[in-house]
Amino acid sequence: MRDRDASWGHALWERLLWGGVLLLLVAPTGCDHAIDGVAPSATDSPVEVDGLFRGLGRPLRVVCTTAQVADIVKNVGGGDVEVDTLMGDGVDPHLFTATAGDVHRLRAADLIFYNGLHLEGRLADTLHDLGATKPSIAVTTGLVDQEPERLRRPAEFEGMYDPHVWLDVALWHRCADYVAAELCRLDPERAEGYRQRAAAYGSELNALDEECRRQIAEIPVRQRVMVTAHDAFGYFGRAYDVEVRGLQGISTADEADLVTLGALIDLLVERGVKAVFVESSVSEKYVQALVEGCAARGHDVRIGGELYSDAMGPDGTPEGTYVGMVRHNVDTIAHALK
Ligand SMILES: [Zn+2]
Repeated sequence: MRDRDASWGHALWERLLWGGVLLLLVAPTGCDHAIDGVAPSATDSPVEVDGLFRGLGRPLRVVCTTAQVADIVKNVGGGDVEVDTLMGDGVDPHLFTATAGDVHRLRAADLIFYNGLHLEGRLADTLHDLGATKPSIAVTTGLVDQEPERLRRPAEFEGMYDPHVWLDVALWHRCADYVAAELCRLDPERAEGYRQRAAAYGSELNALDEECRRQIAEIPVRQRVMVTAHDAFGYFGRAYDVEVRGLQGISTADEADLVTLGALIDLLVERGVKAVFVESSVSEKYVQALVEGCAARGHDVRIGGELYSDAMGPDGTPEGTYVGMVRHNVDTIAHALK
């Protein structure tokens, strides 16, 4: 195994070297350009060549940032990948910073998949820099390039896209298809397996999407108001017809303010909403303030349960899978608001 790895490593190095030579050959000639020392950007780096992993002879070592991304790669990759997930249950990706150990894991990977759209805000530079030495791929790239109209662009997020696309199952299906296409492109010898597993995973996601629609439709429209700790559920609300409001903004790096808190208390009291929700990866403190604020106005609102927004449940539990996490959320929401 080790020898094969070494020879593959050598082959990769040769490929990189040739990529570099080719870049030099096609680059404009002249000393000025060479003195600039302009390095190729991540996107036109020779590491992104099709068929990069041809002849690897062992599973691909993939590091994923979030568990939702890892769920796609595990399902599509099957036995052809070994997946290492950086962020465990309860970890907030907006605030996640990489330790030296995490950077080591990222460096040791053959390739990296991450969410993108600034979800991993404090890891963005590291992920971009690693793109110069290996494929470092945002699973949302296909949406940005081909279907940007399906992405939310909330005014308060300063012109950026809302990164929480996994909370609309149909959009996450598109991301899974993108991962499959990238694996097929980089590792074409094993493409048939990637395609078959992606189709099976896709069928599971289609059934899940239907299930979400059916369950939410049972909540009377007037009661379909969902207040959560931060603004993660915008895509969910749009996909399944629920009015969603968050105490903190799109990123948990934004603090909740008293104006937002007051407005949400008004909404809950006026609409007679029965429940609000906490999230596994976000502090409960603002949601508690909401419950107390409603109580002071004589309206009894309770915490309807814990939702998995940006992190999934612990490994080995149903909520530790993407399908289980979404199912838990929809069950909890339907039960609390009906
Ligand atoms: Zn979030």
